[in-house]
Amino acid sequence: MSQQGYVAAPPYSQAQPGAMGYGPGPNQHTYGHYGGQQQAFSPPPPGGMKSPGSSPGGPPPPAQSHYNPSAQQNGSHVPGFPGAPASSVGYGAPPQTQYPGMGQQAPPPAKQLTNQMGAMNLGNYAPGPMQSPPQASPAAPQPFQPTSHPGMGPQMSPHPSTPGGMPMTGPPMAGHQMSGPPMGASQMSGPPMGGPQMPGPPMGGSQMPGPPMGGSQMPGPPMGGSQMTGPPMAGQQMSGPPMAGQQMSGPPMAGMGGPYAGPPGPGLGGYQQPGLGPNSPSGYPQQQGQFGGQMAGGQMAGPQPGFPGAFPGSAMAGPPQKKLDPDSIPSPTQVIEDDQAKRGGQVYATNVRGQVPPLVTTDFTVQDQGNASPRFMRCTTYTLPCTAELAKQCQVPLATIIKPFAVVPKNETPLYLVNHGETGPIRCNRCKAYMCPYMQFIDGGRRFQCAFCNCVNEVPVFYFQHLDHMGRRMDFYERPELSLGSYEFSATLDYCKNNKPASAPAYIFMIDVSFTNIKSGLVRLLCDELKTLLDNLPREEGAESSAIKVGFVTYNKILHFYNVKSALAQPQMMVVSDTAEMFVPLLDGFLVSYAESRAVIHNLLDQIPDMFADTNESETVFAPVIQAGVEALKAAECSGKLFIFHASIPTAEAPGKLKNRDDKKLVSTDKEKTLFHPVKGVYEQLSKDCVAQGCSVDLFLFPSQYLDIATMGDVPAHTGGAVYKYSNFQVETDGEHFLRDLRKDVEKPIGFDAIMRVRTSTGFRATDFFGGVYMNNTTDVELAAVDCDHAITVELKHDDTLSEETGAFMQCALLYTTVGGQRRLRVHNLSLNCSSQLMELFKSCETDSLINFFAKTAYRAILKQPLKSVREILVNQTAHMLACYRKNCASPSAASQLILPETMKVFPVYMNSLMKTAPLVGSTELSTDDRAHQRLAVMAMGVEDTQLLLYPRLIPLHNMELEGEAVPSPLRCSEDRLSDGGAFLLENGHALFLWLGQACPPELIQGLFNLPSLAHLQPNTNVLPELDSPQSRKVRAIVSSLMQQRPNSMKLQIVRSKDKLEVLFRQFLVEDKGLYGGASYMDFLCYVHREIRTLLT
Ligand SMILES: [Zn+2]
Repeated sequence: MSQQGYVAAPPYSQAQPGAMGYGPGPNQHTYGHYGGQQQAFSPPPPGGMKSPGSSPGGPPPPAQSHYNPSAQQNGSHVPGFPGAPASSVGYGAPPQTQYPGMGQQAPPPAKQLTNQMGAMNLGNYAPGPMQSPPQASPAAPQPFQPTSHPGMGPQMSPHPSTPGGMPMTGPPMAGHQMSGPPMGASQMSGPPMGGPQMPGPPMGGSQMPGPPMGGSQMPGPPMGGSQMTGPPMAGQQMSGPPMAGQQMSGPPMAGMGGPYAGPPGPGLGGYQQPGLGPNSPSGYPQQQGQFGGQMAGGQMAGPQPGFPGAFPGSAMAGPPQKKLDPDSIPSPTQVIEDDQAKRGGQVYATNVRGQVPPLVTTDFTVQDQGNASPRFMRCTTYTLPCTAELAKQCQVPLATIIKPFAVVPKNETPLYLVNHGETGPIRCNRCKAYMCPYMQFIDGGRRFQCAFCNCVNEVPVFYFQHLDHMGRRMDFYERPELSLGSYEFSATLDYCKNNKPASAPAYIFMIDVSFTNIKSGLVRLLCDELKTLLDNLPREEGAESSAIKVGFVTYNKILHFYNVKSALAQPQMMVVSDTAEMFVPLLDGFLVSYAESRAVIHNLLDQIPDMFADTNESETVFAPVIQAGVEALKAAECSGKLFIFHASIPTAEAPGKLKNRDDKKLVSTDKEKTLFHPVKGVYEQLSKDCVAQGCSVDLFLFPSQYLDIATMGDVPAHTGGAVYKYSNFQVETDGEHFLRDLRKDVEKPIGFDAIMRVRTSTGFRATDFFGGVYMNNTTDVELAAVDCDHAITVELKHDDTLSEETGAFMQCALLYTTVGGQRRLRVHNLSLNCSSQLMELFKSCETDSLINFFAKTAYRAILKQPLKSVREILVNQTAHMLACYRKNCASPSAASQLILPETMKVFPVYMNSLMKTAPLVGSTELSTDDRAHQRLAVMAMGVEDTQLLLYPRLIPLHNMELEGEAVPSPLRCSEDRLSDGGAFLLENGHALFLWLGQACPPELIQGLFNLPSLAHLQPNTNVLPELDSPQSRKVRAIVSSLMQQRPNSMKLQIVRSKDKLEVLFRQFLVEDKGLYGGASYMDFLCYVHREIRTLLT
C-alpha cells in the first residue's frame, strides 16, 4: 500500500468566526405545555372562506365536512364521520361501557378545579426557558453556501431527476435555504410561566387515601377496619364501602415517602444495564412495608393463586400483613391482551375522522382510506379539545408522534409515488399544504379550498377534473393524493439543494484502530463483516444494486483515508496528521461504488487489521473524524451517513478533545443536569455542519470506562443517528450482538437530507419537536437522515378555537433524498375530532402515545431542571389529568374511589416506570454514560419502543406449548409473578434475560442446555446452544422472533435466581419498587390517588 503524507493547508477550511456562539436571541418561547396562549396566528383569509359550506360559487358540499369519507366507501355511507355533534357518542372510538351516566349528564362545573389548576402552573418543566433546539448563529446563517472546490468536477453519476423544474407559485420548501428568521439562540423563552410551582409530593407519613383500584371506577379498598368482599377487579364497577373522608392512621408508609424520598437506587434503567458497581446491593433490597402497615384492618387477598412460593427476599415476609391484591390494580398485560382479542387480526380502515387505532402492541392490518396509518402517525388523543382553555383544564398533552419511514408490513400497500412532472405537486398557494383528501373542490372543480388555511385556489388546467353528484372529483380513486392518507410526490428541482439534482448518498465507515479496538478483536471482526454486509446496502425499489457510495477511514490520533478506486490494484492510504483543520486529501477514489470497487475494498478490509496489529497508540481524536466525514460528503455534493466505531474518550490534542468530567457527587444535586449536557463548542458546530450537508452520524462505542456519551452522542442526536454501546467488548461474548446491530443499521430503510413540516388546520399548530432533529427556525424540522425506527414527537397547541363540525387536520410533509438519490416528498395526513366535551377527549386518549410524549419532554427537561422537580411535575400532571377526568367526566362517587379513564387506566404504571428509568432516577450507582445514553436513545423512539421499554415483556417458559408458534402470554412485570419452579424470558427492546428459578424443571434445563441440572450451568453463559430438543427449538424461535421485531439487537443474559447478576434482571420488574429508587406501582397509584383527592377538595 502506498502511503503519502499530507501537510498541505486545508483547501476547504470551514472557519466560521463566531459560529460557535449560541447566544440567546430574540425569538424565544416558553417551554411548558400549558403555559398560556400561543401567540395568535389567525391569517386573514384573502379570498378564502371560513367554512366550506359558504362557498358562493360551488355546489354545496354533501357533508358538513371538508373531508367526506363516505365518499370513499364505494358508496356506502359511514355513519358517525362527518362532524357529529360532540354530545353524541362515538367518533369511531371503541365502545366504552364503563361510564355510567356519561353522555346523559352534563359534567359538573369545573370551575373550581380549573382555577386551582390554573394557579398551579402544572406541566411546565421550568420556571424558565426550557427549550433548546440548537439554532443557527446569525454569524453562520447559510449552511448551504456552495463552496467552490478546485479540481472538484462533478463526479457523481447523473441521476433520474426531473429536468428543468418549473417555477412554483410561491417558494417550495426549497432545500435548506430557510426563509425564517434565524433563531440565534440556543434557548427559547416565551410567555412567562406565571404561577407558583406546585409543591412536590409530600413525603412519607402523611395520610393516605384508600389505595386505588383498577378499572374505570373502583372503590377505595377498605380502610381502617372496613371489610372488602373480595378483591375488586379491574374494569369492573365496584360499590365497595364508601371511604370518603377516611384518613390513614397507620404508621408512615415505608417506601412511600413520596415516591422518591428513599435512598437512590439503580434505575430501572430499562435500557442499558448498569454494571454491578462496587456498591451494588448484593442480595435483594428489602421492600419494606409496602402496604402492610397502612392497610390496617383491610382484608385483602393474599398471595395470588397460581404463584406458589413467594420470590425470595420478598417484602411480604414478616408479620402477617394484609396485602392489597396486585391483581386488583389495572394490568397492562390485560389491557394489551384485551385489545389484541378485540381488534387483533382485523383490518383497520382509516376512513373515519378521529378514530382511535388499536394499541401498538396489537397485531392488525392497516388499510389506508384517507388518513395516515397509525404506523406513521399516532396521537395522544384523537379528539382535541375545542379551546385552549379546555386543554389547559385537562392537562392532557396534545401531541402526535410521527414515524415518517415506518416499515409497512408486506401485507399492506406500500406508498404510491405521484409524479406531476415538471409542475411538481399541487399545493395551496398560501399555506403551501400539499394536495390531500381534505381539500374541498368547489366551483365545478375549477377551484379548491384548502383544509388548512381555507384559502381558495385555482385548480391548474392540467389537473382539472369534473365533480360527481357528491361534489367529489371523478378521478378520486385514480389519484392517491385525493383518496389516501399517505403517499409520495416526485420532487422537482425546486425542491433540491441549489436547484441541482440530488446525488445518491454515501456511507463512510470510520474505524478507530487504536490499541483497544485492535486488542479486543473488534477491527478484524468488523472488517470481515463488511465484506458481506456491503452487499446489502439499501437500494431503490426495483434497482438491481445499491446506488450508495462507500468510503473508508481509519484513525487514532491521525486519520487515514483510502483510495479504493476500482482501477487500482491496491488501495492507497493517505494520512492527515493535522487534525486541527480537517480536510479530505483525496476526492477521486474515496467514495466509490461497492459493486465496482469490490476487489480493492476487500483487499483493504483484509489489510486493515494487520496494518495496525502492533499498534500501541491508545489516544484518539473524535471531532476531526466527523469533520472529515462531512467534508468528504461536501466535496462529493451528497448526503450520507458516517458509521464510526470508537473505543475511548478522545484525549488526543485536537478540536473536540474531551476530559473525564464524570462526577457522581453531582447526582441528586441541582448540578446533576450538567452530566447530561454536552460540552459546548466544537460539537455544536459539527452538528450544524452535518445537518447542513445531510450527514447523519451513527456511533458504535466500545468503551472500558467513561467516555462522555452526553457529548460524544450530541452529533448523532442532532443528525438522526444512533449511539450503540458495547461496554468491555469481547468478540466471544459481544461480537454477534454487535454484528446484529450493525447489520440492522446498515440495511435499514432510510431517507437523507430531510426537512419536515407539519401543517395544521386553523386553530392549532405544531409548537415543539422532539427527537433527532435540528431546528433552524420554529417550523422547519431538519433531519440529516430519518430511518424506519426514528420518530419525531410533535407537540400541538391551540391558537384559536377549533370547530367540532370541521375537526382538525394535520399534514406532515417530509422532503428527502432516497437511497437512490431521488428527491421526494412524503406526505402523511391525519384528521382528528374536536369537542367541547372533555369526556370525548378522554375517550380518545392513547396511553402509549401519552407516555412517549412524557418521556421525551421529561428527558429534555432534565437538561434544565433538577430531576426532583421533573419527577414532581410528572406526578402532578398525572394527578391533574386524572383529577380532571374525575371531576368532569366520572359519575359521582365517593372520594375514596380512584376513578380512571378507561383509555388511561394503565397510564400510572407507565408513568411510574418512566420515573424509575436511569436518566430520571438520580442514583450514584448508575453509570453516567448509561444514563446519558438512554436519554439520547429515548428521544428518537417511536411509540412501540417507549411502550416496550417502560413495560417489558415477561414471558413464562416453563409451561408453554412446545409445538406450534404460539408465544406464551406475557405476565405482569413483578417479582410476584416469578416462581421458583419457573423459567421466564424478559425483554424490553434493549435487554434480554432468561431467568431460571432454582426449582426450574430439569427437563427444561436438559432441553435448553443439555445439562442434568441448573447447578451445572456455567455462570455468565449467554448463548442458547442449538439443540434438537423441543424446548430448545421453541425458546430459540421465540428469541429469534423477538430479535427480528426490535430495532436493536439484544444481548441475551442468562440469570439464575439468587445469582449475583439477578439484580440486573430485577430492575426490569417495573411494577416493583425500584432497585435504585422509585415506588412500586401499587404505592405510586396510592400516591397519585391521594394527590387527586387533594386536588378535588
Ligand atoms: Zn392553505
